[in-house]
Amino acid sequence: MKKWMQNIRTVTPYTPGEQPKEKNIIKLNTNENPYPPAPGVQKILEGFDTDTLRLYPDPASTDIVHAIAEYYGLSDDKVFVGVGSDDVLAMCFMTFFNSDKPLLFPDITYSFYDVWAELFRIPYRQIPLDENFEIRPEDYKTECGGIIFPNPNAPTGIEMPVERVEEIIRSHPDVIVIVDEAYVDFGGTSALPLIDKYDNVIIVQTFSKSRSMAGMRVGFALANPELIKYLNDVKYSFNSYTMNRTAIACAAAAMKDKAYFEKTCRQIIEVREWAKQELKSLGFTFGDSKANFIFARHESIPAEELFLALKEHKIYVRYFKKPRIDNYLRITIGTKEEMQAMFDFLKEYLGEKGR
Ligand SMILES: *Cc1c(COP(=O)(O)O)cnc(C)c1O
Repeated sequence: MKKWMQNIRTVTPYTPGEQPKEKNIIKLNTNENPYPPAPGVQKILEGFDTDTLRLYPDPASTDIVHAIAEYYGLSDDKVFVGVGSDDVLAMCFMTFFNSDKPLLFPDITYSFYDVWAELFRIPYRQIPLDENFEIRPEDYKTECGGIIFPNPNAPTGIEMPVERVEEIIRSHPDVIVIVDEAYVDFGGTSALPLIDKYDNVIIVQTFSKSRSMAGMRVGFALANPELIKYLNDVKYSFNSYTMNRTAIACAAAAMKDKAYFEKTCRQIIEVREWAKQELKSLGFTFGDSKANFIFARHESIPAEELFLALKEHKIYVRYFKKPRIDNYLRITIGTKEEMQAMFDFLKEYLGEKGR
């Protein structure tokens, strides 16, 4: 071993879902939105004055912060933005989880949490979901340095009622609780009102899923001004200019188009509910997803086999070869046509198998 090895920060990185270069595939593997961003985003990019790129962007990203604050009826000092919610969450880990006691999160959840904990040397403990893949607030009633969970949870899609979220926040007044609401816009209930009731809660959301802008990288945190100030202090100690000029302009435009946002979310919810019926009739079982994906297993065919057969047929879904969930597929809700193509293939495949 080379001597300098002992000074290296070695980590096992997060593995994002595949982004195949191939055209003409049906991509249901990374929870992207099948519809384009709000039309105002196109207009911004068409009219964008490239000369302004000589100049650094607004370090406070005021235009996005203000558009988000307006949308949720908050003051600007309750909003923090970052380069996707991954950046926002990483900043939160760095800012708020500095205890010797373990950070708590579910055993089956967003697989970036343990990666950040390792990266930032934060002790952590993964709390098993119950047998129905639900989070039990009782299991979190232990000494800890902080708590984080998505609601609805990923990759299960299952939502915890907001009263139970509140129970977790209320029973841990001495640590910060982060509610990762990446999927809340697809029919879930946000814990946002709790930021005015408790000083220890942070809501994190993203433009990547419900606002069709995964490629632009914009996410945000909502909390009381004191917590937002701590986050900004860390951000300005790390990188002052996180949001580029195009991202600021495009995200602000997207946030202002409430009608388009509501329409596309409604379409995804409709297709999801129809997809649940189709999956059921094909012999799949799944929890009641409130997200833009369904986490399903088949009654007789192993998930890995289905994953590979679908991929062979250019239909990409997500498969996690991990304990407890290695017989499940996470299927993103695409357009009705994309979902129909997947069901047509599955019908034929399962029919041949005489399932
Ligand atoms: C997709 C996702 C994120 C991160 O999304 P960004 O694209 O970085 O905004 C964060 N948390 C969960 C649970 C997600 O599924």
